[in-house]
Amino acid sequence: MFQRSCYQDLTYYEFSDLKEFPLRHAVFTRFGGVSKGPYSSLNLSFEVGDDPQAVYENRYRIKQALGVSRLVSAKQVHGKRYFLCSSPLKKDIEIEGCDLILTDQQGVGVLIKQADCQAFMLYDERQHSLALGHAGWRGLVAGILEEAVELMQRCFGSKVEDLWAAVFPSLGPCCAEFRGYKELFPPSFWPFQIKPNYFDLWSLSVHKLRAKGLNPARILTSGLCNKCHREFYSYRREKVTGRFGSVAVLC
Ligand SMILES: [Zn+2]
Repeated sequence: MFQRSCYQDLTYYEFSDLKEFPLRHAVFTRFGGVSKGPYSSLNLSFEVGDDPQAVYENRYRIKQALGVSRLVSAKQVHGKRYFLCSSPLKKDIEIEGCDLILTDQQGVGVLIKQADCQAFMLYDERQHSLALGHAGWRGLVAGILEEAVELMQRCFGSKVEDLWAAVFPSLGPCCAEFRGYKELFPPSFWPFQIKPNYFDLWSLSVHKLRAKGLNPARILTSGLCNKCHREFYSYRREKVTGRFGSVAVLC
């Protein structure tokens, strides 16, 4: 179940199915930060025109909520380049041109920023390691989900049967309209069209993860569309807006 919780002024969601593991994760709403105007209020991106001091404060607040002192994030570019964080961090880092972050380090908060695109997490309960990725339609076409599973296998020796997957809030089938999809999507995506030009990208992701061998019972989807739910930012709804964060940390 995808549950709503609070920490001080922050509101976030988490999958209750993962609570038994030494792992904390949260999808933060836009509430509880200090950004103003169209970025109000918990914008986590330095790249959308917001006051950087406000973003630093907002990032401090999510670190407090998760009990972490360091964050690793990325300047996301809708590709599938990855960064492996394999040693403790002395400070927060933001990796250039990257959409997938893997780690086996405890206490490092991995942040993916969103405003319509999917974020997803893979967690290996046996090897105690994780991957967090940013999967917009370009990333899905590029095969970032499949890449993430293969990287977990290569970097950490993960077995697919030990993996959990979570697909966080993003454009739902209600709002994922892609006119001219035949130019954008390969034919393998077309069965996920649910009415003219509208696609169920959540089901597509589940399908892709199952095809890589993940246990369907361990693939979690939030079922929350960020464009319909105004507690999240949506680029399609607002154009000038902030980015909400999906964060995970190994304990
Ligand atoms: Zn929607």
